[in-house]
Amino acid sequence: MDTQARLRQLPKVDDALRDAEAAGMLGEHPRALVLEAVREVLDHTRSRLVADESSRFDAEAFLGEVAARLALKSRRSLRRVINATGIVVHTNLGRSVLSERAAEAVAEVARSYSTLEFDVESGERGSRHVHCEELLCRLTGAEAAMAVNNNAAAVMMALAALARGREAIVSRGQLVEIGGSFRIPDIMRESGATMVEVGATNKTHLRDYENAITPETGMILKVHSSNFRVVGFTQEVGVAELVELGARHGVTVFEDQGSGVLVDLRRYGLPYEPTVGESIAAGADLVSCSGDKLLGGPQAGILVGRDHVIRALKQHPMARALRLDKLTLAALEVTLRAYADESVAIAEIPTLRMLTMPADEVAARASAFAARIADACGGADAIATAAADVDTAPDVSRAGGGALPMADIPTTVVRVLPRSVSVVELERRLRLGEPSVVARIKDDRLLLDPRTLGPAEEPEVAARIAAVLGEGA
Ligand SMILES: *Cc1c(COP(=O)(O)O)cnc(C)c1O
Repeated sequence: MDTQARLRQLPKVDDALRDAEAAGMLGEHPRALVLEAVREVLDHTRSRLVADESSRFDAEAFLGEVAARLALKSRRSLRRVINATGIVVHTNLGRSVLSERAAEAVAEVARSYSTLEFDVESGERGSRHVHCEELLCRLTGAEAAMAVNNNAAAVMMALAALARGREAIVSRGQLVEIGGSFRIPDIMRESGATMVEVGATNKTHLRDYENAITPETGMILKVHSSNFRVVGFTQEVGVAELVELGARHGVTVFEDQGSGVLVDLRRYGLPYEPTVGESIAAGADLVSCSGDKLLGGPQAGILVGRDHVIRALKQHPMARALRLDKLTLAALEVTLRAYADESVAIAEIPTLRMLTMPADEVAARASAFAARIADACGGADAIATAAADVDTAPDVSRAGGGALPMADIPTTVVRVLPRSVSVVELERRLRLGEPSVVARIKDDRLLLDPRTLGPAEEPEVAARIAAVLGEGA
């Protein structure tokens, strides 16, 4: 059959649309979307008929392709992912997962009118700041607090409100890039503050700050180095010393604490990370942090500090531009409330629960998970099946999100060495499936860390692995 004859087999758009309608697609999808899919598959089929002499038009396969394309087009773009990487605050996978209670509050406030800016007592207009301010003050010991869209916004606003047109002193060791193009020097320039760098990359002394103070100095800024560490011959000046220096010269001290740790993580075997409350106790005038890193809440930028400083921030025009919406406020309030009792915070807030999960608990879950995968793959209670070798091994989990970058959190992973498909193919099929399962590859094996999996997700993942390996066999 020559090319022209093969092309004549192609249906007209209207006919193809009628076939799609007969197949029930118009009942499920908007007409415009079905039309778009039909056109795309027609184009694609036409190219194939031209390129490949042996190809013929197949009406059934055509409709199948239209249906597949429609399924992809109507699938939500932002959707659930199963995180088997062991990276708890995974930046690409949405950082912190909200607690059940926080998620419920979000749903409730989303579905109804709310007290967002309404004072029930007086019946008058209220302030959206009230929902979290008292909680933040209680948890950090600060005089006043507010929350904005994220920590980058908090830092930007603090610099603009307190140091615009003035000098802000910062250590060279702290001119960090956090990722996603947040760089301290860039933020400073945009805020209108003049950056005065002091010290060397590895060492900054108190006298370096002191020598840089002029009548133009508006702020001393201390930035948590977040996702990297300067190790070896190093020196940083602590908040308390900067506060003492600032007080002598009437200069505001602002610390960008970064991760938002509110509890002493050493109690759970994790490395020391100064809490927001410690910076306040050391006398910082202002401290900022993220809401969705180690704090474990929604994306937000938290600012706590002295009353007059927070008042200046609340009155700044940027505060209106960067304010939180009601859904985030609902999630943040409920997350902060959990901290009233530390054991409740650890148990309820997924980020804290995962980070502090004891090694023996992860190991027990890994063993059960491995057995479940082997079982799903037809191996009964044997760990080696025809489809894959499944075992457990020690490995490390990570806090992620630039927090605790040097912390190797001991974990036990499940390792799958597939036989019927390559490990690359297994990883790809799990990732492309619904929901997407994200796992690591190491030494030709697929690694699944139970630390970041919900218990209900383990059977789901086991079934998915078995399905991929079964298809490959
Ligand atoms: C993460 C981080 C930021 C940026 O916070 P976002 O909430 O992502 O905007 C700023 N400073 C430090 C020190 C950080 O660790």
